[in-house]
Amino acid sequence: MGEMTRAEKIANLGAVVIPFVATIVAIVLLWNSFVTPADLIIAAAMYMLTAIGITVGFHRLLTHRSFQTPKSLEYTFAVLGSMAVQGPVIAWVADHRKHHAHTDEEGDPHSPHVAEDGHHQGVLRGLWHAHSGWLMSNQGRADWKKYARDLYEDDGMRTINRRFALLVYLTLAIPALAGFLVTGTALGALTGLLWGGLVRIFFVHHVTWSVNSVCHFLGTRRFDTDDHSTNVFWLALPSLGESWHHNHHAFPRSAVHGMKRWEPDPSALIISGMEKVGLARNVIRISPERQAEKALVAGASQGDLQGQFGTSASNSRG
Ligand SMILES: [Zn+2]
Ligand SMILES: [Zn+2]
Repeated sequence: MGEMTRAEKIANLGAVVIPFVATIVAIVLLWNSFVTPADLIIAAAMYMLTAIGITVGFHRLLTHRSFQTPKSLEYTFAVLGSMAVQGPVIAWVADHRKHHAHTDEEGDPHSPHVAEDGHHQGVLRGLWHAHSGWLMSNQGRADWKKYARDLYEDDGMRTINRRFALLVYLTLAIPALAGFLVTGTALGALTGLLWGGLVRIFFVHHVTWSVNSVCHFLGTRRFDTDDHSTNVFWLALPSLGESWHHNHHAFPRSAVHGMKRWEPDPSALIISGMEKVGLARNVIRISPERQAEKALVAGASQGDLQGQFGTSASNSRG
């Protein structure tokens, strides 16, 4: 991937700012009741389709290969994920693999703890950088051939990658068309575009980006990893299970991020469902024994944290 051009930086800034402004406009319109149940149903459907495109598709399938699925479904997930407007599929996968290779160190494209040059940065600056600021920066972005060669060499993926602008158009046109079909009016098309298009993009963006910022900043930890990743329960449902992000950094290839019964993980449920009907194979799961081996309470090196993490054998004996 080459240097980001000025036009690309402006496009990225637009992708961040326009849904934000549209969300404020939409809230003002809501006060005047320009929102119908149809708008909310369209928005929820578009949210689910595109968020699943990111969590099950871009992330667990294409970045980490935590299960296998027929090529046609890979492409379907790549299209749905692209419609979340978080960048073309190959760029997304390359940046995310680089995040795992250099987590919270120099080279991490979006750590709240280190700036692009590897220096520590202030709390607010760091959180902003991890959340959205990194999208406007050249530094730290991953080389596609190095980090996503498998996708780069796949003609179908390259086509989907190249057609990103068309998919951004469709992600706005589909809810507008749905709004028109339900109401038969131009106003219905407009509110469909606003709620099902822009406001929905805003929410999917900020939930995904919160995994990059919040889930490396505050929350709980229970495995012995040398990064700052955390599990954040209040983001679990909107992020479809991605906010069990500390579990994910401990076991990046696991298809299941919510590893305890009380850690809801809708994306893992979808993958299990696909497995049951024969659409997912070789689903990677981590046995309780392997999880126990990596648990913080068992790690001598992290002994100072034992007390915080409750009732290990040594604590109860003491
Ligand atoms: Zn992370
Ligand atoms: Zn990951």
